[in-house]
Amino acid sequence: MKIYNTLSRKTEEFNAIKKNKVGLYTCGPTVYNYQHIGNLRTYVFEDILKRVLLYNNYKVKHIMNITDVGHLTSDADTGEDKMEKGAAREGKTAWQIAKLYTKIFKKDLEDLGIIFPNKFTKATDNIKEQINLIKKLEKKGFTYKTGDGIYFNTSRLPDYGKLARLDKQELKAGARVDMGEKKNITDFALWKFSPHDQKRQMEWKSPWGIGFPGWHIECSAMAAKYLGQPFDIHCGGIDHIPVHHTNEIAQSEAAEGKPLANYWMHGEFLVLDGAKMSKSSGEFLTLGEIKKKGFSPLAYRYLLLQTHYRKQLTFSWEALQAAQNGLNHLYNIVASWDKPKIGCAEYEKNFLEAVNDDLDMPRALAIMWEMIKDPIFPTSTKKRTILKFDRVLGLGLGKIKKYKTKLSADTQTLIEKRNTARSEKNWKESDNLRKQIEDLGYAVEDTPEGTKVVKK
Ligand code: AMP
Ligand code: ZN
Repeated sequence: MKIYNTLSRKTEEFNAIKKNKVGLYTCGPTVYNYQHIGNLRTYVFEDILKRVLLYNNYKVKHIMNITDVGHLTSDADTGEDKMEKGAAREGKTAWQIAKLYTKIFKKDLEDLGIIFPNKFTKATDNIKEQINLIKKLEKKGFTYKTGDGIYFNTSRLPDYGKLARLDKQELKAGARVDMGEKKNITDFALWKFSPHDQKRQMEWKSPWGIGFPGWHIECSAMAAKYLGQPFDIHCGGIDHIPVHHTNEIAQSEAAEGKPLANYWMHGEFLVLDGAKMSKSSGEFLTLGEIKKKGFSPLAYRYLLLQTHYRKQLTFSWEALQAAQNGLNHLYNIVASWDKPKIGCAEYEKNFLEAVNDDLDMPRALAIMWEMIKDPIFPTSTKKRTILKFDRVLGLGLGKIKKYKTKLSADTQTLIEKRNTARSEKNWKESDNLRKQIEDLGYAVEDTPEGTKVVKK
């Protein structure tokens, strides 16, 4: 199996540390608001990675953190704490906000057919581990104190920034921001002190004073706690390359003298009309809105699978509509097939090659459609193979119930026309088609998977 490693900027053969076992860490949400559909793209990419590993018979231990403290509104460790800001916005406590948005996040994952990690681990449940890691760094001389916290001295680490290939000279020259008491522009907070004049909702005692951990230290501490160091694969969105993952690597390698993870994989962004989806602007799309407009979350998943995870994807409602139509069409075809029997080795081989080629899902989907249209194989063969494919695709094809009655080609065409009419909200046409289907002797039922019919 080949994957693209951001660290080497190369597509590499994947070699697990332990035979047949993979340790996977994926950076989770900051639970101060809904996740937008851009964030969700990253989790779908990580789900595909995990499913492909499972498909290759690896056992996967997957850890995902929940950032419920420490993520400030600016990646340069300034600004407000996103959690406390979210709490103020909604008139709730930071703890309530964390609980609420964690719950919504998990529902989003479920709706999108994402397999849950073995463990969700909260930053606030691992304060002791984070303090211990900072102590280790302090002992080794990597830290210094300022008026607002304990900072990591990046100039002490010769290869700082290797993941992002940061040019330190260029950074220094280009720095226009006020560094405050920081010694280097890239230095970052390990521990922040609570303000003297104010009690924070989330704060803890530490050897340096009352305060809260920086954002990056949580992932370093929790990844090593659950997966050991080094572990196999660490993932996130591409925005994590220059700051968050760069700093995770710096802390962990400085403390332990060995790599944090062997492979670093990053999903490209989802954008809206060329602009980045951003929560700070207040305008962002959620899965809830997609559902409100009548689309199924799996149609969004199907849309995402059509673009390689390392390519930027521009979201549009038209593209989502096309994905919904495509998925309904797929469900209808599968519903008309016979029970699974022996599979289709040739297509299975091609599919495996595609997914093992750095998760080439667009190619994998093309192979699936090629098989669907192949006139040679019986539908029982195709059914067996498509259910196998769905272990990676995660489109819920195993749940599609077979039509009890064999449908004529005419009825099938009418059903598909009606699905299209419905998804285009052309109700007149849809009613007209319902009548035509009923005239052929079927009762019509509308389900989230599209039109279903039964013999009257
Ligand atoms: P956050 O909740 O901001 O910590 O982000 C959660 C995950 O979403 C991280 O892995 C980010 O890298 C990723 N992410 C943020 N914005 C986007 C976007 N527009 N498209 C894809 N992934 C994103
Ligand atoms: Zn992280």
